[in-house]
Amino acid sequence: MTITDQDHAIATADVFLSQTPIPLYINGEWKEARNGQTFDVLRPSTGQKLATISSAGAEDVNEAVGAARAAFDAWSALGTRDRAVLLHRLADAMERDQDVLASLESRNIGKSLPEALDFDILFAAQGYRYFADVATHSGHSRPLPLANMEASLVHRPRGVCGFVIPWNAPSILTVWGIAPALAAGNTVVLKPAELAPLSVIYLAKLAEEVGFPPGVINIVTGLGHEAGDALVNHPGLNYISFTGSPQTGKLVAEAAARNLVPSKMELGGKGAAVIFPDVDVKDTAEKLGMAIVRNAGQTCCTATRWFIHDDVYDDLVSASVDFLKTIKLGPDTDHATQLGAVISQGQRSRIQGYLDQGLDQGATSILAGGSTQIAGSEGGFYVSPVLLGGSPENVCATEEIFGPVAYVMPFRDEDEVIKQVNSSQYGLANSVWSEDLNRAYRVAEQMVSGNSWINAHNVFAYGLPYGGVNLSGWGGGVNSQQTYFDYLRPMSVVRPLA
Ligand code: NAD
Repeated sequence: MTITDQDHAIATADVFLSQTPIPLYINGEWKEARNGQTFDVLRPSTGQKLATISSAGAEDVNEAVGAARAAFDAWSALGTRDRAVLLHRLADAMERDQDVLASLESRNIGKSLPEALDFDILFAAQGYRYFADVATHSGHSRPLPLANMEASLVHRPRGVCGFVIPWNAPSILTVWGIAPALAAGNTVVLKPAELAPLSVIYLAKLAEEVGFPPGVINIVTGLGHEAGDALVNHPGLNYISFTGSPQTGKLVAEAAARNLVPSKMELGGKGAAVIFPDVDVKDTAEKLGMAIVRNAGQTCCTATRWFIHDDVYDDLVSASVDFLKTIKLGPDTDHATQLGAVISQGQRSRIQGYLDQGLDQGATSILAGGSTQIAGSEGGFYVSPVLLGGSPENVCATEEIFGPVAYVMPFRDEDEVIKQVNSSQYGLANSVWSEDLNRAYRVAEQMVSGNSWINAHNVFAYGLPYGGVNLSGWGGGVNSQQTYFDYLRPMSVVRPLA
């Protein structure tokens, strides 16, 4: 990226942010909320206001669902290839405007521009291409080999799909939801998180530009208990996909059940990493350290409970402390920032609250960190990395903190550590670290979660299913061919022959 390109991208993002308020996108039109309400989005790096956003109420959500319903027949009849072309065009537009999107994402989330570009925007663009290709290569009707009847199983789009997503990875969580739904011929209404809606609204501009018909994609920015509640309770939905905390997930699942709407839940986590003695200590310490630093540790599946074998415990802990001390904490504007601000003052207080409670319960402070300030960005919501150790019952070992924090515990016995890992109420993702691949696979398969990774943590690829069990969710997960079929309704068609 040249300086000129970057300046141009930042200027384009500035113009987008200067709209007051940034409108809703409903039925192909940009409009303010009917009740005239707005909310402000802050920049985590500085704590200053970044934008004013329209705050949708129930009437706006109702209009969006109505628009999606009206657009459904034509969109679903369009044909898989034509829809796939539009999804590829959207990915093209995202790649063309990658620096604008990265500028919005980095300013809104608090991460550096290179991190936002590589880990969010470009990866998100790939997802639209993946589901476009899955759709064009999938059969939607297959014969059933039954005696005396001509029978087949066909797959048809469900209708209007509602999406509610959190703030920690807006571009990625949007594509993981809407790309399979759109590719399958559904129309969508999405409510982004109030803390981080910017890149999602810009995406709607791109969708409009590349020719998605009005009503196919609708974006209703707003508060959880207003726009979110109105959307998930709307009787006009045919499917709900929710990503967020288990607490809100339960409310959404209740609403879906009341309306008998099928749903998918992608919820929180408390990922474990199990480290055996036969690892490269420095390399493992750096990889696990980055797992709690990237995205400021605000990653649902990241490694927050580290079970370290006695024989390597002291070395690995000491290498981790050394590595985490080198991490550059900084604002989104600094390309060298490795650990940016957390999303909000509320999130920073929540993290600090857990740390205080954990220490009160007797946790040992191995690397003291927590709420902090950095010169020149005093209003920003910074948290420096923390390593705690102690009892597996400690609140910091059991609850999702969602910050740059890990809790370390020694172990000696393989069966015992598997029990410890599986004692969590969550079940999103765990990792095992060992050069002995027989052992690594054996442990990986016994850990109860949607995802088990070997000698790595936070592994994502399109085509690799990702989802959770227990408090981490249900409904089939994301990112696979199966996800595409989750957005289709199966139907048998049969003609008796005799
Ligand atoms: P949250 O549950 O507070 O909010 C998520 C979304 O729900 C937001 O858009 C919010 O406005 C909306 N919402 C809030 N109340 C609502 C209501 N009553 N009805 C409908 N919608 C409502 O979660 P958060 O703090 O934004 O996000 C962090 C959580 O998300 C963590 O638990 C994290 O692990 C989880 N997460 C999970 C995944 C995954 O793939 N499993 C991915 C990212 C984040």
